[in-house]
Amino acid sequence: MKFSKYLKPTSACILGVFGLFTLSFVPKEKADDKIKIAKEVKMTFKVNVADNVELPEGFADTLKKAEAILSKILSSEDFKEALSKRSFADSAFSKTKKSCFERIYDDNGRVSGLGVYENITRNPKVEIEWVIKKYKDGEKTSVMGFSTFCVNKITSHDYWIKNGQYLSLRFVRHLAHEYTHVCGYKHDKLLPKEHKFKKGDDPAMGVGGIVGDIMLDWTKKGLI
Ligand SMILES: [Zn+2]
Repeated sequence: MKFSKYLKPTSACILGVFGLFTLSFVPKEKADDKIKIAKEVKMTFKVNVADNVELPEGFADTLKKAEAILSKILSSEDFKEALSKRSFADSAFSKTKKSCFERIYDDNGRVSGLGVYENITRNPKVEIEWVIKKYKDGEKTSVMGFSTFCVNKITSHDYWIKNGQYLSLRFVRHLAHEYTHVCGYKHDKLLPKEHKFKKGDDPAMGVGGIVGDIMLDWTKKGLI
């Protein structure tokens, strides 16, 4: 029992010395590069794999990494800032009667980027069922996956879930894209061709792009 009396100040001292030691060796610009949190969001995925699908080696670790990075990005000031600067076609909202999201427009009547941010970060803890299956029993497709508005479930086709080419980055981008759909935004098939699926006019593509860019930027800076 007496130990705690002595242990506490000792451990605090060690931490103090350590803290100082570490701080003095962090270059100034590195300290400014720290990830700033705007609003905590934690994304977790519960994977549900079809029997005929074989996941790549290390899948669980890759997903764990992707979960942590996606949560960090959605929580960050960088994400809020990048998305707030954007606006999207006014037809991007789903016509669904479900109300898990708010229809927020900017002064020009376009879908507000800050509104997209608010909808994506509305819930601090999100648990998603991630179903991985083959497309129509092995037929070819270029569709990576799909989701339903206001349902915490993402379905993905297995053909692109292979190791190599930054699988964790592709997970992060894909899951962010699909989660944007869950939050009420659709691809607009009526958009004029020049705007179709471009970063600027489609929230799901926009968010996927922003999240991917932030992940690359943080990787370059050694932050993740
Ligand atoms: Zn999509």
